[in-house]
Amino acid sequence: MLVSAKEMLTKAHEGKYAVGQFNINNLEWTKAILLTAQENNSPVILGVSEGAGKYMTGFKTVAAMVKAMVETLNITVPVALHLDHGTYDGAFAAMEAGFSSVMFDGSHYGIEENVQKTKEVIAKAAELGISVEAEVGAIGGEEDGVVGGGEVADPDECAKIAGLGVDMLAAGIGNIHGVYPANWTGLHFDVLAQIQEKVGDMPLVLHGGTGIPEDMVKKAISLGVSKVNVNTECQLSFAAATRQYIEAGKDQQGKGFDPRKLLAPGFEAIKATVKEKMELFGSVNKA
Ligand SMILES: [Zn+2]
Repeated sequence: MLVSAKEMLTKAHEGKYAVGQFNINNLEWTKAILLTAQENNSPVILGVSEGAGKYMTGFKTVAAMVKAMVETLNITVPVALHLDHGTYDGAFAAMEAGFSSVMFDGSHYGIEENVQKTKEVIAKAAELGISVEAEVGAIGGEEDGVVGGGEVADPDECAKIAGLGVDMLAAGIGNIHGVYPANWTGLHFDVLAQIQEKVGDMPLVLHGGTGIPEDMVKKAISLGVSKVNVNTECQLSFAAATRQYIEAGKDQQGKGFDPRKLLAPGFEAIKATVKEKMELFGSVNKA
């Protein structure tokens, strides 16, 4: 059974740890993340971008696959299926398809339009018991074609959106999606502290978790970040392990071309990355 992310994040915020959101792209990704969460007795959030949802033939397919897998693998840790950076229409479509959590990213709208649309998403989500993540201000980098400049959110705007009744809030504090540039200046902890003060005990979300130094991640968690999004890092470790397999010529030995063999090293690499992140975030044994 899938659960809303509300309870797991409230507990994480109180306990000063964070739950990882790991984005999925296919069956191997999903299975690797679910098994790692169970092995480490950790709550987990499976993130699905609109692009990844389309790739997997739609939100309905994703929800059906994840629900069936949770059941057949006997996953007992809390699992939330979460739409990542949803559009307004996307958020409603994901809720109808059976997702248990959605992000409505209205950060590219003006604050008033963001407020209005976020309110409408919250109203529908409340009927269905689905958790909602909202976003204020652009986070840098690129995700599904949306580009930002390492921007920093206004704490007053954060308070405005948080006050609408969202369950978690993403706010730019200099974080960037994808691989961080060499001249990156780091996270703005002063802004993070100001935001947390303005939004009370609202769990905060750190996007762009790949490549932020571990000590910065830990400090952000100590200041109120209760959810960290990891996407690129699993892609990099999957690709590296797959490359190694092919470069070693293993696909040409025996039945090494069998997709179940070909994808196995990448699958194990995702598991290792997810375990490492759960340990860093402090969510191990917090299910
Ligand atoms: Zn993001």
